[in-house]
Amino acid sequence: MKKRSPIISILGHVDHGKTTILDRIRKDNIAEKEAGGITQAIGAYEIEHQGRKITFIDTPGHEAFSKMRARGAKVADLAILVVAADDGVMPQTKDAIKHIKEAGIPYVVAINKIDLPGADIEKTKQDLVQAEVFLEGMGGDISYQTISALKGEGIDELLDLVNLVADVEGLTYNPNVPGEGIILTSVRNSNRGITVGLIIKNGEIKKGDKLFSESTEGKVKVLENFLGEQVEKLIPSSPALILGFENLPEVGEIFKVGERPEISKATGPQIKEDIPEGDKKVKVVVKADESGSLEAVADMISRLSKEPPIIISKGVGNVNESDLKTAASFNAVVIGFNANVDKVAENFAKIQKIDIITSDVIYELEEKLREYIEEHAVKEKRTIEILAIFNAKEGNQQVVGGKVIGEYIENQEKFEIFRDDNKIGEGRIINLQSGKEDIARAEENQEVGLLVKADVNILEGHHLVFT
Ligand code: GDP
Repeated sequence: MKKRSPIISILGHVDHGKTTILDRIRKDNIAEKEAGGITQAIGAYEIEHQGRKITFIDTPGHEAFSKMRARGAKVADLAILVVAADDGVMPQTKDAIKHIKEAGIPYVVAINKIDLPGADIEKTKQDLVQAEVFLEGMGGDISYQTISALKGEGIDELLDLVNLVADVEGLTYNPNVPGEGIILTSVRNSNRGITVGLIIKNGEIKKGDKLFSESTEGKVKVLENFLGEQVEKLIPSSPALILGFENLPEVGEIFKVGERPEISKATGPQIKEDIPEGDKKVKVVVKADESGSLEAVADMISRLSKEPPIIISKGVGNVNESDLKTAASFNAVVIGFNANVDKVAENFAKIQKIDIITSDVIYELEEKLREYIEEHAVKEKRTIEILAIFNAKEGNQQVVGGKVIGEYIENQEKFEIFRDDNKIGEGRIINLQSGKEDIARAEENQEVGLLVKADVNILEGHHLVFT
């Protein structure tokens, strides 16, 4: 993995100064002769602050942000929430706070327009705390900076904060996977044809690469950096302008380098064949409205935890009876993103007691799925793996040693004896010891000595399973 620089989105109420901040940062940090090359065509620009790059998404406003969010594309790594000190927290400030929190990204606050006579920094801070933005020094840890975007005051310090927060995040990318990212702008230009501005989030993108998005595909005929210079290759967090898409993709779509996988063209679900027997992972059947969002959801699932759920099948369209049948035969849960559940499927789910999780917001889907996993992940069975036999069976009693797997076991508990997967007998703990001490209970991974009563001779490698 390699380090990448942070991508920043600026949010806040209309007229609180988002555009002015973006303009100011651009003007102060990019040499004039280079700045001439910047067009609005990409929708993002890159600066250097203290020798480190920062990318700004140049399309302020909630619409682009929430459009991307709803598509599962977390374009920004970090947000700047702008609040004008003469106006305080306003309705769109609250919306912005909600968006940021839903996206689950870190953020810093810029209290702007402090040059105005009506600026009331203290009141603005109180407002923010009221809106559950718990600022540093006010019971929370959200950093803030007072600025005047108009006069350029506090901007350097704001960028310092951005770098600090980015350090904590430790952003990285994998240079060895096909490039992927998010479409920021998409226009038909009378001279150049279809020009697409995008931002790379993983892998790399090179001139000549084939690429595809949810709605279209193409080849990188021309690759330009944000200064309008033609380049051969760009890496993550860099804004890029591409010529070569066949049609206009929509803002917020995810693109990937490579050939469009078959799944996007398939109508029916694809079923995974090689499910390991008795696997303890949660299994899911995934449906989404479009191929792009299907990929976003699959991606989210695969990154959910160290042991992510197994995707049994995925497909585009509404949740239907066939999905439920697949789920039933694999004991899976059905996930629907931006997808309706048809009546037959709904009844099937009710009768067969199959869970369906749906949402139109990917982060909500993620949260629901997490909860589901928490509740349904099969816990390791409470077991003792027999590691040593201290004396052979005398009558029906025997002293053995072993290790606790899965939560705990208690003295006097009954157990079943397994050789591999076959039950060969039953027994009960008469006495439980750790070291030479008698104990009532042993915890996971603890090594214990046991006096047991059993109907068969227990040998090394057997498992005692407690229910
Ligand atoms: P946006 O709607 O959030 O993008 O806000 P703009 O950047 O367009 O700013 C709205 C108005 O506030 C413009 O007239 C700006 O000149 C003005 N403005 C922005 N920042 C400041 C500031 O720091 N001080 C003062 N006095 N005016 C500002």
